[in-house]
Amino acid sequence: MSTTVPTTAALQSARVAVLGYGSQGRAHALNLKDSGLDVTVGVRRGGPSWDKARADGLKVAEPAEAVKNADLVAVLTPDMVQPALYEDAIAPNLKPNAALLFAHGFNVHFGQIRPRADIDVILVAPKGPGALVRREYEKGHGVPCIYAIHQDASGQARDKVLAYAAGIGGARAMLIETSFAEETETDLFGEQAVLCGGATELVLAGFETLTEAGYQPEIAYYEVLHELKLIVDLLHEGGLAKMHQFISETAQYGDLTRGPRVVDAGTKARMQQILTEIRDGTFAREWTAEYKAGNGNYRALKQKDLAHPIEQVGAGLRARMPWLNPAQPAVTTVASPTADAPLKRSA
Ligand code: NAD
Ligand code: MG
Repeated sequence: MSTTVPTTAALQSARVAVLGYGSQGRAHALNLKDSGLDVTVGVRRGGPSWDKARADGLKVAEPAEAVKNADLVAVLTPDMVQPALYEDAIAPNLKPNAALLFAHGFNVHFGQIRPRADIDVILVAPKGPGALVRREYEKGHGVPCIYAIHQDASGQARDKVLAYAAGIGGARAMLIETSFAEETETDLFGEQAVLCGGATELVLAGFETLTEAGYQPEIAYYEVLHELKLIVDLLHEGGLAKMHQFISETAQYGDLTRGPRVVDAGTKARMQQILTEIRDGTFAREWTAEYKAGNGNYRALKQKDLAHPIEQVGAGLRARMPWLNPAQPAVTTVASPTADAPLKRSA
């Protein structure tokens, strides 16, 4: 952790190009502009992001044009489109000593992008989704960021990366230095083993266990999916201590004695195997090959996930809880046949 609070000074006379205007791109571009930096968004003319960025008051250019004028280029497109973007728009146009910035180290760490030797290669990854990065900035706060330097051609890479992190608001919260390897490997591991892969499989196995034993799917949904948020919020806000403080003694005793039987030494050994496959490049090669082959397997697996009975039950129940998705109008009739009977009675 740094002790002095970094400022945007090192980028005050720089031109910044933000390529991509999705979750992170929009938040970074708007925060940097509001921090007084000269920002151009690089997106495809005629695409939906072009009009959106202009409507948000930002300068917009084709990616190659934005790169030509830039002293720092932030690559905030989806990871799998970055290698082609680098070859086509960035490598031929980027000025010597300019900086190339990523929000995830995947392509550089796994050699999908081999940056020119005469540029700085840096990383700033906010520890939150883009919407939060923007919202906290607007409130005068920031989302903690991790940052890394892969290549320092100009001798100023550190000043630039800290200035960028300050510009998006991260320095108002906390900055932690990392490496491209550490950011990439831990990010992939977290999403695969715990956050996305681990958590969803735990929920599905719990739902199947209850419904196969004859319990109502609606009740099972509440117990293993809906209420997960209450527990995660407690963990998020105050760790294990806060969770223990707010759950019953019975829940605590069940947690402490049964939890280790669900997630046991075998689970941890498989987590270690998953980490090995991340570190030795097996996962990166598999995913890159899948993407290049047209994502057939990825789409089939996703379709299977979305066809799980918990999805139908969940849609019916969530339609009766409009506070979950305030942007969508409340639904008063329930499509799911399984959810229909018990809900109609209470309507
Ligand atoms: P996203 O999918 O939300 O947005 C990507 C944007 O890129 C699109 O909106 C579009 O403007 C543009 N784009 C898409 N295809 C393109 C193409 N072929 N050519 C040019 N532009 C194209 O992406 P995101 O989630 O903001 O991720 C951007 C980067 O940030 C990734 O490296 C990701 O790993 C990283 N990151 C994301 C998060 C997050 O919370 N979403 C958090 C930390 C880091
Ligand atoms: Mg899954």
